[in-house]
Amino acid sequence: MFDLKSMTLPELQETLQGMGEPAFRGKQIFSWLNRGAESYDEMSNLPLALRERLKAECPFTVPQAARKQISEKDGTIKYLWRLADGNCIESVLMRYHHGNTVCISSQVGCSMACFFCASTIAGKVRDLTPGEMLDQVLFTQKDSGAEISNIVLMGIGEPMNNLDNVLKFLEIVNHPDGMNIGMRHISLSTCGVISGIKRLAELELQLTLSVSLHAPDNPTRSRLMPVNRAYGVDALFAACHAYFQKTGRRISFEYAMIDGVNDHDWQADLIANRLKGMPSHVNLIPLNEVDERPFRPSRRTAAFQKRLESHGVTATVRRSLGSDIDAACGQLRRKAQKGEDS
Ligand code: SAH
Repeated sequence: MFDLKSMTLPELQETLQGMGEPAFRGKQIFSWLNRGAESYDEMSNLPLALRERLKAECPFTVPQAARKQISEKDGTIKYLWRLADGNCIESVLMRYHHGNTVCISSQVGCSMACFFCASTIAGKVRDLTPGEMLDQVLFTQKDSGAEISNIVLMGIGEPMNNLDNVLKFLEIVNHPDGMNIGMRHISLSTCGVISGIKRLAELELQLTLSVSLHAPDNPTRSRLMPVNRAYGVDALFAACHAYFQKTGRRISFEYAMIDGVNDHDWQADLIANRLKGMPSHVNLIPLNEVDERPFRPSRRTAAFQKRLESHGVTATVRRSLGSDIDAACGQLRRKAQKGEDS
């Protein structure tokens, strides 16, 4: 049983040839699948017999919108998608001046256990396939009617822990015969899995790497993010510097502002010190509250931003979209497991 939607164009062509079909059939199917076709019956330029054979040998599914919530504040839409095996994931459509952005999940749940994040509370169930990542983009676009121009891999899951599938997804979604979304319109966010940052550096993709920093010192970062107990901030910043050297791409650092924990001036000073020699951008995120967690949003965001800027570090405060529907950073969950809600 082949998962055609998870295949790159060359793989699809090869698969079709292996089935005794001409390679151009692969291209036709690629283009249908990447337009959000929902069954082989729609693929009108394929011979009927081939359609029947594909139905039997390579069935594919489309995600079902188990729930759709629209923010009254800003029009952000959050989808809860039910996958073929009953697992659920969330994606968020945000409308910015520069275009429509979809924030997609890379895993069902997350194993990283960052202490302030809702996505990890119930652990990780499994990785998503390239096709399941693609589906979130395709069907968010199809359902909402909003043409997607940007993708952020910032939903549920740690993309670096599912990097093979993520890379294949990127190749598919970037392809001119597919959605043709340029790498410069794609961001990938990691909590700091260094092996993944190194591997990505080698590929020299034009995408934007976002690193969830949240603290520049080991005691605070290890308290907030268990991943730091394995790697530590020295290794993290070394990997970031090496990434910039190799790719020439400016890294974006995410920093959720937590009251009394990571919002001290000395931490801003330390960030500036660590970023010396590397053009970068710090994105200050007002902490989104998660019921199960004790943290409160910082009251010093503006002062912290000023302090960073006084050292020449570019810092912006991220607008929090969709917080009234729990669609903001760190609020996505896999919920509705196997069909039950909440
Ligand atoms: N695992 C990846 C992808 C998730 S991206 C990563 O960690 O980067 C989601 C972003 O939202 C990350 O920067 C994450 O640290 C941040 N985030 C998580 N919980 C948050 C919260 N409660 N408030 C604000 N940002 C949060």
